[in-house]
Amino acid sequence: MRRREFIAVLSGAAAWPVVAGAQQAGTKHIGAFMSTAPKETFSDGYRQGVIISHKTIGTCRLTPEEFHTAYPKLWVWIQNTLALYEKNAESIASMHFVHLPLYFDHSLLEAAKFIAIDRLPMPPLAAMGLSRFAAFEEGNFNGITYLDRYFIKQTVVNEEAIHFHELIHVIQWRLLGPEGFLVAYANGLDEFGYENSPLEKMAYDAEAAFKRSSAIFDAEKFVEEQVGHLR
Ligand SMILES: [Zn+2]
Repeated sequence: MRRREFIAVLSGAAAWPVVAGAQQAGTKHIGAFMSTAPKETFSDGYRQGVIISHKTIGTCRLTPEEFHTAYPKLWVWIQNTLALYEKNAESIASMHFVHLPLYFDHSLLEAAKFIAIDRLPMPPLAAMGLSRFAAFEEGNFNGITYLDRYFIKQTVVNEEAIHFHELIHVIQWRLLGPEGFLVAYANGLDEFGYENSPLEKMAYDAEAAFKRSSAIFDAEKFVEEQVGHLR
């Protein structure tokens, strides 16, 4: 039995719990919320009030069986979703951002595409048997990446740093493969919570360096090295 923390995102009148914290295990249900934390801002994450609470639960992390039951459904959902929106996909290069070409190959900026949208399509994880991630499904994000496509909210489509962040995820998907990415993402979320999950932390760390513009670096090499450390 391990101690967990939860983050609940206030979304209007509703409070949506999301797993967070450095010590995580799986959960079957989410309990009451306790303490209030200051507002936090994540580029592809939450821009709303966040409540952190603590609750002890006794279940273990996502099992391989749970993952393998859900994965085929998730894969079909991703492919259908991407097919549905492909006509709206635009290459990153078409945005003519000034800084992204300093960090990414032109071929990636041509091949990867974004879909600007008002509401991001989130997989129905609870319906796929992954009810522990129901809170993630309800999270208010600015962007979400599936393979080499990402959805970005129309309101932030001109924010270069958000494109940078999602491009880090595009590279992660490519290096890990779809199953490898999803299992790593799910386990990271389960074990460490959203902001500390290794694949998100990698994206936020790279994004922070990009925003500082202190030194230009090869973003693809950065992800390659970081992904190598995960294995
Ligand atoms: Zn992210």
